[in-house]
This record gives sequence, structure tokens and C-alpha cells, in this order.
Amino acid sequence: MEIRNLLAVYSMTKSKKDRKRVSLYEFMDKFQTEQDAMEYIESIRWANGRVCPRCNARETSRASHKTMPYWCKPCRKYFSVKTGSLMEESRLPYKKWLMAIYLLSTSLKGVASTKLGNDIAVRQPTAWFMAHRIRTAWANNASQLFGCEVEVDETYIGGKEKNKHKDQKLNAGRGTVGKTAVVGIKERDSKQIKSIKVADTKAITLHQIVCDAVADGSTVYTDDATAYEGLEKQGYTHETVKHSVGEYVKGQAHINGTESFWSCLKRGYYGIYHKMSPKHLQKYVDEFSARQNVRALDTMVQIDCTIRGLFNKRLKYADLISGPDGRLH
Ligand SMILES: [Zn+2]
Repeated sequence: MEIRNLLAVYSMTKSKKDRKRVSLYEFMDKFQTEQDAMEYIESIRWANGRVCPRCNARETSRASHKTMPYWCKPCRKYFSVKTGSLMEESRLPYKKWLMAIYLLSTSLKGVASTKLGNDIAVRQPTAWFMAHRIRTAWANNASQLFGCEVEVDETYIGGKEKNKHKDQKLNAGRGTVGKTAVVGIKERDSKQIKSIKVADTKAITLHQIVCDAVADGSTVYTDDATAYEGLEKQGYTHETVKHSVGEYVKGQAHINGTESFWSCLKRGYYGIYHKMSPKHLQKYVDEFSARQNVRALDTMVQIDCTIRGLFNKRLKYADLISGPDGRLH
């Protein structure tokens, strides 16, 4: 179930203050042994009964293999809940995975890999790789379009403050040299965010992003950047707020939702991560969007959403550190 559907179900049954929080202590107390942790992850992946991750066959049985406790009859291969997931080939205990997932899912500004490494007792490079795999679980594959009232805004991440001219410092202006642009889209009803790294902020790029993410006939709120002009021709009602003349709210025409998301992202950038390379930026913005999108849910549901994203995806270390030319960086 997509998170916005999950949220719709929750908002009918409970209010934000009823959300059930679970502390790290309570969470880890559920898993006395590795077996407990493994069974918890299995219960999420195989809620409707165990199937082979390779061929989806139900003809599987328990096996005596040390790390892969199941056997698929048609494939004639062993497997575990890690097979065909972002945890594949990881020798780390399930309990460490669960603790890392808890910390990353619940820390609004993110967790530095040095801190994560210290907290779960693994080396920093291991923690860095784990965190990137968890971010990959959060990649937004939602196919549903946003609708009704939608805010669209862009910001810039990166670049060295000391290299900038005095009057550009702390000013995320358009086209700022050395920075990478990110477009944020927020559906007001569901409070869901999508954020997308873009090569530029030209009209053709921004219009395409809006068309790919927002249903026809919706009202799109933006600032008065010329790149957004002409959205009416794409089938939207377009309302603008004139930031260039100091106007921030005009009736319903504001983009405060996307702007508060940028401020959260920037607190994480300046306070925790310090650097988000253009290469990995999409993963970081996915991380901040995913956390924002599940904020109203119970802690255990937040964790379940993250765990569900781990399956049927792979991220190899060599791919993570290699450049576009295929060389290691
Ligand atoms: Zn199989």
C-alpha cells in the first residue's frame, strides 16, 4: 500500500497526537535474539506466506544451512530473507540492521555515518554503506499522481560558502554556481513530498517534472519564477506568490509547505551531513522526503515502511562508489 493511502486510512481512525511512539529501547527489547530480529523482517516480507525471492515459488522448505535457512525446490537453491534485497551479501546481524533502520527512520535531521557506526558498533565505511542502502529503500517509486492542491518549489544544495560573493552567502538564489538544484512537490491534502534532483531549472525541465508528478486539472502553487509560466497550458490552474516583491502569502497562494521541507533538509545538510555530493544527492533528498512522509504514522508503521522498501532492490558497493566513467572514486 502506498504511504498516502496508509495515511488516509490512519487519518480516518486517529489524530496526530494519538500516534504511538516507540523508543529505541522498547524497539530493541522486542528482539532478544538474532532469530527474533530475522523473524520480524520475515513477517513483513512474507506477510502472506514465504515465497522464493528468486522465482516466487511457494514450494520452499526449511534447511540446515547456516545463514540461508530456506530451500527453494524449483530453483534448487538456498535463500534467506536477505536474498534479493538491499541487505543481500551483508554479514551484519539483523539486530544491527534493525537498529540502523530505527535510527535513520526516526531522526528528523538524519544520522551521520560516524555516529551511526558508533551507535551500532560497526566501522564508519560500513555504516556509510548501510545508510545508503536504507536511503535506496526510500527511493520514491510511487506511481500515483499528486492532485487537488500541490505546491512546487526548488532549492539549491551544496557549494562552498567561502567561495561565494558576500551578498550570495546563505542566499539560495537561482542558478547559484556550484550548487545542485532540487525540485520539491507537496500535495497539500496528504502532506506527501516528492523531491527530485534536476540538472537545471529551465522551464522545460520544471514543466516536465510537474507533468510527471501532478494530475491534470490540479491547482499548482509556485513562486513567480518565469520558469513556471505557462503551466496553465499544461492543464493546471496556476497560482503564484510574488517572492520577488516580498509577498509570501496571498490567500491560498503560498508555498510554505515546500519551504518548511527545505528548512528541514538544510538543517540536516548544515548540522549533520555537511556534504551531499551531487552524485548521491537524490538519495539524501529521498531520505528527507521519506521521513517527512511517514511522520504522522506510529513508529512501528514507519519502520515497516522502511523495511518493505528493502526488498527486490540491490545496491552494490562498487556501483555506489564508481563514477559515470565506471572507475572507482
Ligand atoms: Zn525459487
